[in-house]
Amino acid sequence: MSSPVLAATRNALEYPFEAHPTGTTQEVAPGVLWVRMPLPFALDHINLWLVADGNGWTMVDCGLATNTTRSLWEEIFSRDLQGRPVGRVIVTHYHPDHIGLAGWLSAKFGLVPWMTRDEFLTAHAACHSVGGTGYARVRDFFARHGLDPARLEAAGVGDGNYRRGVEPLPDTFRRIHHGDRIAIGDRSWQVIVGYGHAPEHAALHCGGAALLGGDRLPVADGRPAALERAPSVRQRLRLRRPDQSRGHQRQQQHADAEGQSRGARHYSGCRLMGAPTPPRPT
Ligand SMILES: [Zn+2]
Repeated sequence: MSSPVLAATRNALEYPFEAHPTGTTQEVAPGVLWVRMPLPFALDHINLWLVADGNGWTMVDCGLATNTTRSLWEEIFSRDLQGRPVGRVIVTHYHPDHIGLAGWLSAKFGLVPWMTRDEFLTAHAACHSVGGTGYARVRDFFARHGLDPARLEAAGVGDGNYRRGVEPLPDTFRRIHHGDRIAIGDRSWQVIVGYGHAPEHAALHCGGAALLGGDRLPVADGRPAALERAPSVRQRLRLRRPDQSRGHQRQQQHADAEGQSRGARHYSGCRLMGAPTPPRPT
């Protein structure tokens, strides 16, 4: 991919693009559009992706199921896609800002979202608060670890938010696996599954040039510390040194600042890397 490559540095993240307004797109590499959508909570926005795919587009992640996001998508579809439809939706993981509108988009474009099985099943479990995903179990967990009653009660205010942020969920999906190669346009993207942020989180890596990471990458002192501690991702990218993966784009910076108070920073990044070793399944 010919792209505005981000040179990874040893000690700092770099952001080659300024953040653009939510509800708009910016091309960050040929045929790769960065979309920012608003979120009605502290993270403020979510980064999503449209990748040119022949006569249509492949969308990577969907945004939260709100009327605002639906309206903004409709504007983008009519304004920015050159009359070409969305032909595929890939969902990286089950969190509502990523899978939220998958059901709406599936119905709108007559498609089935591509995603891993654990993310699909976890989304349905969380939507219906079964399988240990409901707040009662979370409350027990926090209480056992000493959270005081006031904060336990405050945390419960969000009970049910997941369902409100994702309905209607798609009722079927096309399964993707770690190591799959997905042709999008004339490029091959490899599925890299990681565990921790979500049960079977799928990132997409394109031939040594781009990584659509899909979400959170905790950072310490300006460095993506979690990647260094995440063997499932790091090893699968076969990074020879941790700093080979460092360097992020501007679009993540706002969320970085917002996430600092929690000791972790929110990403949903398109990471453009200098010269990584191509990933291989392990
Ligand atoms: Zn997430």
